[in-house]
Amino acid sequence: MPVSGLPPYDDNNIFARILRGEIPCKKVYEDAHALAFHDINPQAPVHVLVIPKGKYCSFADFSAGASEAEIAGFIRAVGTVARQLGLEAPGYRALANMGAHGGQEVPHLHVHLFGGRPLGRMIPSAG
Ligand code: 5GP
Repeated sequence: MPVSGLPPYDDNNIFARILRGEIPCKKVYEDAHALAFHDINPQAPVHVLVIPKGKYCSFADFSAGASEAEIAGFIRAVGTVARQLGLEAPGYRALANMGAHGGQEVPHLHVHLFGGRPLGRMIPSAG
């Protein structure tokens, strides 16, 4: 079910629980500001989620409330993970869903990294 993507932050969302170690994940990267792990329901041969460690629902929430170090750290992590997964040369897609129209289901900011095959057009041409 899509969520609003608006604050207040829900401390019980799945990614908050993964960050607290209450739910396992297949971790691919971690540093002071970000965690990356494989999506439980992959939509491409490579499908990894990169999340900031802070409590942010969306990019609007993150850009308004995060420190410069958190913002730099998260964006650097997205690039680092893509490089470490070998996605740079063949190419890949980074995507973030926000709120109901974006189809966001987990109300903790996350960037999907898709790769491992040609990914086609940006958005499927559905009505
Ligand atoms: P959204 O639609 O919010 O952008 O995407 C949320 C993503 O989180 C989905 O691709 C979904 O498969 C993934 N996901 C949901 N629950 C879990 C979980 O418990 N573990 C992992 N690794 N991924 C999850």
